[in-house]
Amino acid sequence: MLLPPLLPWLSLFLLWSDSPTLALSLSDAPKSAVIVGGGPVGLATALTLSNPPHSYDVTVLEQASVEQYDPTKAYLYNVNPRGQVWMKEHFPGALAKLQARGSQGSMSRITIVPADPQTPIPQIKTLDRYDTTKNNPQQDGEAEEAEVEQSSSVALKDDKVDTRNYWIPRHSMICLLEDEIKEQEAARMASSTKQVGAIHLKKDRKFASLTPSEDGTVKVAVQEVTTGETETYSGSLIVAADGFNSAVRDCLADDKQTSWLQTKPAQFRVKRWKSPASGLRMKVIQMPPGFGIPDSDGTLKTTENEYTYAIRPTFTGFNNFVSLGLLPVKDPSMIRPANVITRPDHDIWTKVTDGPTAKAWFSEAYPRFHWDDYVDDAEWDRFAKAAGTTFPYCQYSPGLQVTGPQQTSGVALVGDAAHAFPPDIGQGINAGLCDVVALDRALRGKDIITGKEGETPANLGAALKEYERVQGPQIRSLIRISRFGFPYQYRQSWFRDRVGRLLLTSNIAFRMLLNKLSFGKIPPSCIVLLQNSQLTYRQVMRRADLTTAAFCVVLLAFLWAKFGMMLMNIIGLAI
Ligand SMILES: Cc1cc2nc3c(=O)[nH]c(=O)nc-3n(C[C@H](O)[C@H](O)[C@H](O)COP(=O)(O)OP(=O)(O)OC[C@H]3O[C@@H](n4cnc5c(N)ncnc54)[C@H](O)[C@@H]3O)c2cc1C
Repeated sequence: MLLPPLLPWLSLFLLWSDSPTLALSLSDAPKSAVIVGGGPVGLATALTLSNPPHSYDVTVLEQASVEQYDPTKAYLYNVNPRGQVWMKEHFPGALAKLQARGSQGSMSRITIVPADPQTPIPQIKTLDRYDTTKNNPQQDGEAEEAEVEQSSSVALKDDKVDTRNYWIPRHSMICLLEDEIKEQEAARMASSTKQVGAIHLKKDRKFASLTPSEDGTVKVAVQEVTTGETETYSGSLIVAADGFNSAVRDCLADDKQTSWLQTKPAQFRVKRWKSPASGLRMKVIQMPPGFGIPDSDGTLKTTENEYTYAIRPTFTGFNNFVSLGLLPVKDPSMIRPANVITRPDHDIWTKVTDGPTAKAWFSEAYPRFHWDDYVDDAEWDRFAKAAGTTFPYCQYSPGLQVTGPQQTSGVALVGDAAHAFPPDIGQGINAGLCDVVALDRALRGKDIITGKEGETPANLGAALKEYERVQGPQIRSLIRISRFGFPYQYRQSWFRDRVGRLLLTSNIAFRMLLNKLSFGKIPPSCIVLLQNSQLTYRQVMRRADLTTAAFCVVLLAFLWAKFGMMLMNIIGLAI
């Protein structure tokens, strides 16, 4: 009688265990997979591969030692219906957690806080849908999760019902997926049939190398970050989910090595483009939950955790304008990270060097705020000295997989390891979860785009090749969307940014006008089309390209009508 209640605890011990031998000896799953990178996409891949029909025994190797709140990665994901497909297809529990822990706060409920303290703060509008979440402030998390689970199962019956987006901090998203893994492990340990493979999460492990082994599998060597010791794990399927600087991808691109892993090294060298948002630097200043903003009449307007705020500065120069951005968070007691996103030559990076200069700079830039009420000396110091993060290039790896000569082992790329771009189109995590869905469908032999049943692939190699064949064009379109979508949304301050923003906004507005005038026949711009989650990335770009092609034809026809005869005369004279 004592054994069943102990099983969940035993499974948790195994999940976090540092002993590969103990963990592996209890598994009778025949296939094993190794995932490098325990970010959201790596964890989602682990859940997918461990479940039937794949039933891999999965080891996730993550270089970070513990997942805790990290102000350098305090950005929020916006999980949209594209990203939710992964949950809706096979992980409704994860969707319920997302609905309970994520905020539906919308960018449309944005409050622009004027710089001048004498200007009133605009009234915040409350939507009815929004109020319903606040009717039960005492509701405890578990009850809320159960309630949301019920409502999500209703939503699952009809995809059209649930088209909501959820804002969730990166660390909460990772906790959510780890909770899902813990629950799965507990259920697996309690079950007598082992249809679900084990998931071993190994933190503090930095990827070192990949080597094919004689038994047909691939060995992954890692270094324990704290001790420097080396360990080896092997699997027939290796998944690179190690982010935009992927070391696994670099290993596949290394043409000095000659195993089958490096049979197409050029395919794993990323193609990259600089968008106007690439190279922007970001860090956050941590504001207390529910802080008040002083209004012109002397009252304090309490900030709502599920609302978006843009706080304007008094400065307007190229190197000192920066709007502080606060995105919605579900938990009203959570620290409110205010994003500071600027060009690298901004005062924030060049003049704000320690706590006192940071405090003085913010007091001058945002005089409405009594900064001592929100930020202490330690936080000013941390903020001033934080190196922050830099938005990546728009980049993708042409190769998404490589398979062994027997077609029974291979390596696949997912998430930022396969494609990365600045966060302005809000697709980072969603595109990564789309990769996981595509890989899952390819392994099941389903149509990757529609999910319809198809023929079971002959072997692992055939499935991975199908993944690359279908997902590659999607990723190429995604990267074009990221380059031309709306890269100026950070109100970049350089002159060329201001000109670029004006031109792009005019282009979007013109296409929108044509769309309205043609009763929807002429497609709007790609950033507008992207909001329709029923469209694939490829369909979005194809439709936008159609309008561009039509523009070009009209322009050429106009030029011909205007200058065609003149040109013919010149040619005639010359002859
Ligand atoms: C500054 C910045 C801001 C962003 N803001 C947003 C945003 O607002 N919204 C949004 O949707 N997306 C945003 N993104 C993009 C988003 O972070 C990614 O698209 C998303 O996290 C992809 O998930 P992933 O699991 O593929 O990669 P990651 O989240 O990068 O995870 C990769 C994991 O691999 C681990 N790892 C890396 N190298 C190794 C190694 N050698 N060995 C072992 N482990 C390793 C890392 O520690 C990490 O945990 C932002 C990105 C950046 C850089």
